[in-house]
Amino acid sequence: MKKSAQFRCPHCKSVLTKCEMDQVLGEAGSFMVFGQSTEICPACGNSIDRLSIVNGKYDIKDSAIVSTLKVIITIGVLILIIALLNHC
Ligand SMILES: [Zn+2]
Repeated sequence: MKKSAQFRCPHCKSVLTKCEMDQVLGEAGSFMVFGQSTEICPACGNSIDRLSIVNGKYDIKDSAIVSTLKVIITIGVLILIIALLNHC
């Protein structure tokens, strides 16, 4: 599964972009990081655990409302298809 290239700072909720190496490590499903173990948020100056960033813990995901809407639309389309098939 493709992981997000962006993540949210757990301290100040700023949207930050992962460095290339962290993205690659995340794609590889890495459970360790090379170099420094924390990253400093450019917005609030707090340190963020790099392993959590790599593992997608702070990835930006669809909000609950968007996810629910997608499910409703999918079910709606399926019902429509089934209804059309039953008319044949
Ligand atoms: Zn921050």
